[in-house]
Amino acid sequence: MDKSVPVTLPEGFVEFYEDVESWQNELFFRLKKKTDSKKVDAIPLLKREDRPLLEFLDFEVDLTDYREAFLSFAQLLKDKREKASLFVDRIMDIKDELDYGELLMRALENDKKYFSGLENETGVPASIMTMISQHAVRPFLRVFALPYEQSIREDESLGWGKGVCPVCGAMPSISRVRATDGRRFLFCEECFTEWEHRYLACVYCGNSEPSTIKYFVVDGDDANQVFVCEKCKGYLKNYDERRGKARTDLFITNIKTIYLDLLAEQRGYGRRETDFN
Ligand SMILES: [Zn+2]
Ligand SMILES: [Zn+2]
Repeated sequence: MDKSVPVTLPEGFVEFYEDVESWQNELFFRLKKKTDSKKVDAIPLLKREDRPLLEFLDFEVDLTDYREAFLSFAQLLKDKREKASLFVDRIMDIKDELDYGELLMRALENDKKYFSGLENETGVPASIMTMISQHAVRPFLRVFALPYEQSIREDESLGWGKGVCPVCGAMPSISRVRATDGRRFLFCEECFTEWEHRYLACVYCGNSEPSTIKYFVVDGDDANQVFVCEKCKGYLKNYDERRGKARTDLFITNIKTIYLDLLAEQRGYGRRETDFN
């Protein structure tokens, strides 16, 4: 048990991400309607290729749709985060000069060099341009993931079982332990895929020695846990549905528990960055 008091999140922080999620859901449902997503069993494909689907299947995005998503996310940022507003105005000034195909590719690759070069050219901070480009691609990734969703969620024999997202290759941002059977699922916030993982295994190094994997919680809240690995010093937050509300929104839970990330870092644990590799 930890006696530290959780840090207070900046005002409007959680609300902003709730708005982001609503924005994303709305676009996702719109894109989904336009797409024929017949169910496909992803497991044989994943076993054969041994890499995330995005690396070997076509990811087709209509660039007009992506441009629209990019600009509407930029607008949301302007409306909800005052600090970003000036930069969004700048983006709107140059919106016809931006190469949306390039932005999409670089967002997927999380190409920091590209975005810092763009910052020099445009004056828009790389963090803002990256954020918009990456959030704008998420609804498309969710549609891409759709045909495979069920087979991946029901991959009981852990045909994939790795620590990276089987669809897009990102690192999970959080996991949950299912109330009904105590099984653990990792969650990818890029494409909203959930896949099963061994309960006591590190997502970064695969270590599964019980004595070197443990979790800590903050006093009074046993549902929000931080799994840590003593071998590689990695950590991942976990929501245990057996100890809290059954079925939670993991995207928002991840945001609401930023104080656990700070605590984990203070104790010397780290997370590998999301890099789609
Ligand atoms: Zn993913
Ligand atoms: Zn580890």
